[in-house]
Amino acid sequence: MNHFSSFRNKISIYLLTAMVTPGVIGVCVYMVLEHLTDLQPVVSLVVAGTVYAIAIVAAHSVLLDTSLRPLEMIWQAVWHISPEKNNAPAPKLKEINVGRELVASTVSQIYDFVSSNKNAAGGQTNSEALDQRNEFIESLPVSVFILDKDWNIKTANKSAVSYLDTEPQKVVGRNVNDILHLSFSSEDTLDSWLEDCVENKATDSHTWEHAKLTIDGKKVKQFDMAASYSKDNVSGNEVVLVIFDRENIYSVADQASSYVTLAVHELRTPLTMLRGYIELFEDEIGEQLDDEHKEFMRKMSVSAQNLSAFVNNILNVAKLDENELVLNLHEADWGQSLTEVIESLSLRAEVKGKHISLETEPGMPAAGIDQISMHEVVTNLIDNAIKYSGQSSEIVVRAGLNSDGDIETTVQDQGNGIPESVIGELFTKFYRSHRSKNAVPGSGLGLYLVKSIVAAHGGNVWVKSKEGQGSTFGFTLQPYAKINEESKGKANEGIERQAGGWIKNHSLYRR
Ligand code: ADP
Repeated sequence: MNHFSSFRNKISIYLLTAMVTPGVIGVCVYMVLEHLTDLQPVVSLVVAGTVYAIAIVAAHSVLLDTSLRPLEMIWQAVWHISPEKNNAPAPKLKEINVGRELVASTVSQIYDFVSSNKNAAGGQTNSEALDQRNEFIESLPVSVFILDKDWNIKTANKSAVSYLDTEPQKVVGRNVNDILHLSFSSEDTLDSWLEDCVENKATDSHTWEHAKLTIDGKKVKQFDMAASYSKDNVSGNEVVLVIFDRENIYSVADQASSYVTLAVHELRTPLTMLRGYIELFEDEIGEQLDDEHKEFMRKMSVSAQNLSAFVNNILNVAKLDENELVLNLHEADWGQSLTEVIESLSLRAEVKGKHISLETEPGMPAAGIDQISMHEVVTNLIDNAIKYSGQSSEIVVRAGLNSDGDIETTVQDQGNGIPESVIGELFTKFYRSHRSKNAVPGSGLGLYLVKSIVAAHGGNVWVKSKEGQGSTFGFTLQPYAKINEESKGKANEGIERQAGGWIKNHSLYRR
């Protein structure tokens, strides 16, 4: 069925409903008044008639709006491309309930017609214009890929082919996801944009900063990308992708962060030794020390622990960015794991005058976790509660089953809380609220790490906070039995999961 017939059928259903419904409502009102009240039949008739008239007016207005909206959008598209500088915006297809396909294809035809007319106005035949256009695309010093409506590559210019280090015949005719193995730094991927275009847009354009491309599973290239979309384009060129090579810029940033990672990595061994000796001293001579020296010892121990946590965060984020953080999920007593983390943090809490309590639901099932990385998740959340809870002293960690049968853990403090406006940014890399930036030391990596590790475990992270009343950070984990069932009993050998800061483009590759 073509778009117009489908539009006509829907409108005729609306028309029928608009004619019948007010009559039915009027009759119902009349019958109700007649049977349930003592009103005179004439009065009932007048009331029912009034209701009928109101319903007719309402139905008429809805019908008029629905049937004229597509016309209005087509009119808006014409104004949008009109040479007069009227600044009319492009039509928003999302706002159309009935006839969206009809408008999308008509608008696309209008846009195509205008662009081919522009060529003709230049005094060229269509084939001359086409040749010239192809030559122009071929000679561009940036990589250009043109895709058809099935996302198969129709054209890849010379720069594109050499960028991929391949030959044209290995690229043309293949699906874009088979050729371009793209990763993006957020959920805003090429795939998600195209999905939105197909559903809601006639034409659109989009840009991405810092995307990655893997060639032959090894070689990685870094670039910015721009794309344009034109639905049902008569030339068959539905999507144009342009890749701007930025390797020289992004690799400098990479080298800088590799250098930091290398330097931080070198801190690990002396730090471990330092912590070992501090513990040894505490065990061996702790009892003989006077109170002042005991306090020095405690401060040294806490500082070494803080430095260790910082080093671990930096190294893990570097692994995340390279998609190299591999987790091994095993069966674990979650209550026991929480007790261990809290014990390891008790000295840090005590020095800051905080008290951490743990409440676990009895009979909680075993969790499927990677011990070391979950230890870091909880450490980061409790550490934040210690750092950002101001004068208040109580920190409560709770764990139990939620309504989905997953294990939910929360860390609650009664500190300053977080303003509503920044909640959406908390889990992004390097984010630090301007209030705590100068007052409290930190790197802005803790919550980013928490989110990535929990996501690799198949869980979610959330936060509930009110300024002046404290914050509760929570996350879910799957019970081991659930993971074991999903992995068809192979969980005994440990389930391997990869935590990555990069989102792969094609949904098939998404974790
Ligand atoms: P860092 O603590 O190193 O700054 P995080 O990623 O752990 O980095 O936290 C990011 C920001 O979120 C912090 O700078 C702070 O502003 C805010 N934040 C985190 N936890 C809390 C909390 N419990 N209460 C108030 N603010 C918090």
